[in-house]
Amino acid sequence: MGEHVIVCEVGPRDGLQIAKGRMPTEVKTRWIEALAAAGLAEIEVGSFVPPRLIPQMADTGEIVRAAVRIPGLTVVALAPNLRGAEAAYAAGAHRVSVPVSVSEGHSRANLNRMPAEQVAEVARITAFARAQERRMEVEAGCSTAFGCSIDGIVPPARTVAIAAALAEAGVDEVVLADTVGYAHPAQVRALVRAVRAAIGPKLTGLHLHDTMGLGLANALAGLDEGIRNFDAALAGLGGCPYAPGASGNIVTEDLVFLLESLGFETGIDLQALIAARAILREGLPGEPLRGGVAQAGIPRTFRAAA
Ligand code: ZN
Repeated sequence: MGEHVIVCEVGPRDGLQIAKGRMPTEVKTRWIEALAAAGLAEIEVGSFVPPRLIPQMADTGEIVRAAVRIPGLTVVALAPNLRGAEAAYAAGAHRVSVPVSVSEGHSRANLNRMPAEQVAEVARITAFARAQERRMEVEAGCSTAFGCSIDGIVPPARTVAIAAALAEAGVDEVVLADTVGYAHPAQVRALVRAVRAAIGPKLTGLHLHDTMGLGLANALAGLDEGIRNFDAALAGLGGCPYAPGASGNIVTEDLVFLLESLGFETGIDLQALIAARAILREGLPGEPLRGGVAQAGIPRTFRAAA
């Protein structure tokens, strides 16, 4: 039996937030169902942000309420503040993901707050979550942990300090996010080690973008350092509206191909995953879909880990 790696599909959130078109709610629901049926056990289905800022996310409440009915699926929703976290809880989300920018420039652009103020908001969210009857996990994503298109270099010590403050604020999990896709493998190794030295197993995952074509190389570096939880987006959709120059997430299909080829079990059926692109294309015609495995077809040499 191979070791298990969790792939969290973020296409319905990270992917759709910068899409030119708006995917109809009915198609979005069908898409999420198809992703879950392909074996994805965690899906970030949307974000609770004001619809005037990101109209593609206006139906997130409805989407969460539909997704929590899918058996076995962990439904994740992004919330930038307490109000969003309250909405996520009310809709039934199992986990709320809160972005905390490490760089001040991205923090101001994305959240209109300084990083320390956002850490304080996270503390309010964990206090809220703890006070509820139903358990909702709180995950914090350290955005621009590897570099920022606005501020440039992000000193690793700043990321470590933010991660430590988030652990102190009571989050269940910390994820390091390469929001703009500037990371390289040696940097991933070094930062994972430094953050783990500060917060131990609370560092669980990596959120990687493929701007420079190094997304899977960075994932491999994370795997070597013991990371067993990766965000990815079907067809490599994704980007941040407040991070100029960022391109899509690492491609879920290609990540699954990599992981299974290495002997890691993902529980994901690669063929069914590729088939889910058809629903994405239907809901967002004209959006460019990326991905090597989907374009070339699954090679005859491929053997899934299980
Ligand atoms: Zn992202």
